[in-house]
Amino acid sequence: MAAYQLAQEALAAEFSARWAEILTAVEARELATSLTELSTQYQAAIRESAVASRTLSIAFYRLVRALETGRVIGGPGYRPGASLGSLWADFNRATGKRTGTGAREPLPVDTRNPFPAEDIGREAERAAETFRQQVADRVAKHERERPGREGSAALDDPALIAWERDFLESLKTAGSGAGGQIVQDGGRDMIHNALQNDPGAIGYYRATEGSPCYFCALMAARGAVYKSKRTAAFGAHPHCHCQAVPIFSRRYQLPDANTSFARMWREFGGGSLADWRAYYTKT
Ligand SMILES: [Zn+2]
Repeated sequence: MAAYQLAQEALAAEFSARWAEILTAVEARELATSLTELSTQYQAAIRESAVASRTLSIAFYRLVRALETGRVIGGPGYRPGASLGSLWADFNRATGKRTGTGAREPLPVDTRNPFPAEDIGREAERAAETFRQQVADRVAKHERERPGREGSAALDDPALIAWERDFLESLKTAGSGAGGQIVQDGGRDMIHNALQNDPGAIGYYRATEGSPCYFCALMAARGAVYKSKRTAAFGAHPHCHCQAVPIFSRRYQLPDANTSFARMWREFGGGSLADWRAYYTKT
């Protein structure tokens, strides 16, 4: 489902834009004294986008499940009398695009709620820790490395100005990659956990972004991952926009990308992860 993957990617992009905006309002020399405020803003931006990511993933899960099983499932956002039409409307609202419609006839209901309650505390902890690693620690290092503290002439040095600017840019990238992962994990974890709690689900596959890294391509090449007592973690990374797409029947259809990664994997013929990386990168 490309619309879902793109909408999640857009939420991460929205978060990145907000983080860039927050940083633009600060002078490089004020960073060290603004860390507390920046951390608060960073965490609030993550929180807001992660909530949207979860809402989107629930609408998506419920819609895919209804399309494949003809039944609607309970949990957050469920409304009595839900139909394919209303589920599409919910999904369209969450993506901000009109990608489908359906009949208005109410569907039979499975009242169970497979969606885990959100763990706001854990998410806030992750966001705070990420801020410390990706922003605060870098700022501290940057402060130690800043030359010419004693001379005011150094302030106008073009090399120094460029150095400060490059540093701000690096904070944008680092903060948005790791923060964007937390944002999208909101939706990814929601789906990954819902599968385990839903007897109607049989597994998931990985929907990748346009040109994924070698690791994600390999994960996508596996095709369907059937659920078991110990379904492995999804395995996302910073700047990764892959999503878990739930499967409810054996008649699912993999995206072309997954099929072609699987073909590449067969042609590769086996070897270490490093070998695969080299092979994937040059193909
Ligand atoms: Zn990925």
